[in-house]
Amino acid sequence: MVWVRRITITIVIVAALAFAGFNLFKQQFAMAAFNRTVERNAGVDRTADLPDGLHVYVCGSGSPMSDPTRAGPCIGILAGTRAYIIDAGAGGARNLGTMGFPWGRLEAVYLTHMHSDHIDGLGELLLQSWIAGARKTPTAIIGPVGTIEVVDGFNAAYRIDSTFRLAHHGIEVADPAGFGGTATEVELPPGPAGERVVFQDGELTITAVRVDHSPIEPALGYHIDYKDRSMSLSGDTVFHPPFIAASTNVDIMFHEALNREMVTAISDKLGERGLANGQKIFTDILDYHASPAEAARAAREAGARHLVLYHLVPPLPVPLIETAFVRDARSHFDGPITVGRDGMLFSLPAGSDRITKRATF
Ligand SMILES: [Zn+2]
Ligand SMILES: [Zn+2]
Repeated sequence: MVWVRRITITIVIVAALAFAGFNLFKQQFAMAAFNRTVERNAGVDRTADLPDGLHVYVCGSGSPMSDPTRAGPCIGILAGTRAYIIDAGAGGARNLGTMGFPWGRLEAVYLTHMHSDHIDGLGELLLQSWIAGARKTPTAIIGPVGTIEVVDGFNAAYRIDSTFRLAHHGIEVADPAGFGGTATEVELPPGPAGERVVFQDGELTITAVRVDHSPIEPALGYHIDYKDRSMSLSGDTVFHPPFIAASTNVDIMFHEALNREMVTAISDKLGERGLANGQKIFTDILDYHASPAEAARAAREAGARHLVLYHLVPPLPVPLIETAFVRDARSHFDGPITVGRDGMLFSLPAGSDRITKRATF
């Protein structure tokens, strides 16, 4: 069996040479891969191949809880060529950058309410809008009562940074006229079913809808119609029939979700270990969010075609846990239920009934 030994020796020598060669040139290989990535991505308009329609960027599917896999609540919208963002959870703006969101076409940011997890990325978002979007006017921020105070605060906090940007990059890149945000507060008609059109132009309508996140008052959800496609987004709410009524026959509903069994397990364990504050917080949050099953009922009663769960509590760092999170929700809704993940892009082309989903990272 001399030939077997010869072949074995040859394979070992070739493998050793390949390994040594790779090690010798691995920096060159890595740099070539890096340059290829730059060639494909830097400065490329990644919306250019998207069809006319409604496109939804999941820039943050998480909550206030620490989660290495999910940014705070943040949803980007592309309606035709016009771009919007709903909520500014921490990490959301950076995810939008990774996803190729068209900052230069951002027209406004809509906030659902003033809880920290929905605004704590606003400073970074405004910076990206200003610099990456080459803005010449401040970014418009629309939200419930409190929006003016919050935006004033972020403008003040980032004023020093803005002077550094101007000094370093010059007025062409960092025009002070485009720095920061200007706030507009939405007042809804009184009553649990209050809603108001907050933007209407041509075939695009954005409507703010009152939701029930008591004691946070008011808290808003949004409904967006573009041409023949539509979406609704709950913000933070319990199961709330007026939001369902405002979402009638939407193509896609984004609904927050909290798994009470999982949160109770955390609360109980914190109590066992003598951490009374944590135990109380994890008990308190049970009463102002919706369960995955309630979100599914909301989608069914609205006649939605697709449900995306987002603002997920607790964190779901491993995909397998998503199955336990959703549990019996699928028995309440016949359509597809997607557990939102950062980087997902949903596309609803105009003039069709298609809803496509893809991971951008
Ligand atoms: Zn909230
Ligand atoms: Zn929240």
